[in-house]
Amino acid sequence: MSERKVTATPQTVIYDDLPLFMRTLRDVMRDDIEKIRIDSRENFVKLVEFAEEFMPDAVERIEYYPGERPIFDLYSVEDEIQKALGRKVQLKSGGYLVIDPTEAMTTIDVNTGGYVGHRNLEETIFKTNLEAATAIARQLRLRNLGGIIIIDFIDMVDVEHQRQVLRVLEKALERDHAKTKCTGVTELGLVQLTRKRTRESLEQTLCEACPTCSGRGTLKTPETVCYEIFREILREERAYSAETYMVLASQPVVDRLLDEESAAVADLETFINKTIRFQVEQHYSQEQYDIVLM
Ligand SMILES: [Zn+2]
Repeated sequence: MSERKVTATPQTVIYDDLPLFMRTLRDVMRDDIEKIRIDSRENFVKLVEFAEEFMPDAVERIEYYPGERPIFDLYSVEDEIQKALGRKVQLKSGGYLVIDPTEAMTTIDVNTGGYVGHRNLEETIFKTNLEAATAIARQLRLRNLGGIIIIDFIDMVDVEHQRQVLRVLEKALERDHAKTKCTGVTELGLVQLTRKRTRESLEQTLCEACPTCSGRGTLKTPETVCYEIFREILREERAYSAETYMVLASQPVVDRLLDEESAAVADLETFINKTIRFQVEQHYSQEQYDIVLM
């Protein structure tokens, strides 16, 4: 491949301008991939030509899929994507992973599911951690998570068990096309990896920040919003003089103002000597409100 780079004519596209299906072949192809199926006749021809030139070993494994059933349905790709975007990954043993990508790092927490008997506790934990190690390597590839990755396996007493889990993890990571390195186990027993960033993660590719919470994943509680409204009314009161205040807010916030906060509202009305009215705005998010002077 590197030799061809040197001799390529200016018209030969090699790097970032390649269309997605060619990049996928270039980046994801491994020896143990049996078949690559593609449902576009036109792109199939292009892909074979590309492979003939740059990846001759792959040519025989590229196959055109002419079927009527969407190729994503055939392999439940939609379901897999849905799962690969969720925080929680269920393991067969009953345990589960919780994967949290943040800007600084990704944390992966391994959990046993539900009740675990006392007698087989260490054995169950060991099995769960082993399964988790393999599942984690797969999830890193699927989600294309890069940078620092911290894994919190369930604590194991047996040192030999700890060693085996790490070995299984390292073995599973060898299959990764992105360079992944285990950089050690911290004092708290957290396993630290680095994985080379390649392109964007699956989430960054397919999703955008939630407009309701601006990507925080949390919303201010109705209680918090109520107190913001009280402070805002006091501010308005100093700046303008109105006869009545009309608060436009979401249903949960108005409900709270009329119920739990009704005494606080009455106090405020007495203090400013004005009437405060409320109106539900169905399309407002929980954090959104307006105060209208009347
Ligand atoms: Zn949100």
